[in-house]
Amino acid sequence: MFTNNWGKSGRKKYCLFIIFIICLSLLFIFSFSWHTLENSEWHPRAMFPCKAVSTSKASYLDLDQLKEVKLQRMLYEKPETLKPPRSDVLIMTPWFAPIVWDGTFNIDILNEQFHQRGVRIGLTVFAIKKYTVFVKTFLETAEKFFMVGHKVNYYVFTDRASEIPNITLSEGRHLVVLDVPSYKRWQEVTMRRMEIIRNYSRELFINEVDYLVCVDVDMRFNDHVGVESLSNVFGTLHPGYFGASRQYFTYERRSQSQACIPSDEGDFYYAGGYFGGTVEEVFKLTNHCHQAIMTDKENNIEAIWHDESHLNKYFLYHKPTKILSPEYLWADYGGSPAAVKRRRFIAIPKDSQIRNK
Ligand code: UDP
Ligand code: MN
Repeated sequence: MFTNNWGKSGRKKYCLFIIFIICLSLLFIFSFSWHTLENSEWHPRAMFPCKAVSTSKASYLDLDQLKEVKLQRMLYEKPETLKPPRSDVLIMTPWFAPIVWDGTFNIDILNEQFHQRGVRIGLTVFAIKKYTVFVKTFLETAEKFFMVGHKVNYYVFTDRASEIPNITLSEGRHLVVLDVPSYKRWQEVTMRRMEIIRNYSRELFINEVDYLVCVDVDMRFNDHVGVESLSNVFGTLHPGYFGASRQYFTYERRSQSQACIPSDEGDFYYAGGYFGGTVEEVFKLTNHCHQAIMTDKENNIEAIWHDESHLNKYFLYHKPTKILSPEYLWADYGGSPAAVKRRRFIAIPKDSQIRNK
């Protein structure tokens, strides 16, 4: 036979050759599939796995894709280490969250940084039942003062979509009207905002914006409100209590409520009408508050100031990363404190008729 002519050593060489080819093919198939699996990128780290090292592919790739935020040459007054811009107000909490007061920030630096990041901001507002009357002024004044020059989506939640005015918006700004159920009691209407913002954070906001600002609608913008107010999670000092001591804060005090804060705790009294943060943080906040509200409902108790009481409890144990001064949510209680130099966002007085129906 043909093979017989080869002799013993020839057959051996032939076998070795075949084994070599098989090994080579296996190596080729293995490397090829590895290459495809790894999204056309070679990962030598994956070849020699080491448990001590984080092998998260996401973080590995993210580092390579980090975008540089680099400022251009800018001329401005140097910050003075020994001369704080404000000495009449607290501008930093003990957990190092800045408190935003007029005169403490340089908006040009901040605008440049936020523009480079291409930040998108969602402003959520509820106009249920008669509260639709506030929407026109709210939107018109927001166009003048709220995040001017940045990308903004207004999210108006309403049960009366036909009553929402169609106002002309500047470039990069959009109005999104979202249908929501209306509840009979006004207390329920304000509390359900937590549930609705929670749900839409998951379904919509996470795909459309980076930060959320969640506010009352019975308000008008009166002065600049910009990116200086944004942070991971932020709250606002209530205009009625920023100078008050703990004992006067109207926290929920009944221990049966999830919102209860004992008399020897509490940093500030935060307003329910202005909070926000990244979509992720707002999701966590609203989810937590909604669940606490539902637990209270099961236990037949309603916190004294509804969602505001739960927000205060949340911020006690999840400290905000930035706090807005009452400039950002002002209401005229007769007083005119010297510390509040600008009234950026002001409550519009309303008669009880608006609430009751
Ligand atoms: N709200 C509403 N319809 C109502 C009651 C309340 O749309 O019937 C919303 C609205 O956005 C309002 C917020 O819930 O700004 C909080 O209620 P309200 O402003 O009456 O509370 P206050 O600021 O007076 O404590
Ligand atoms: Mn209000």
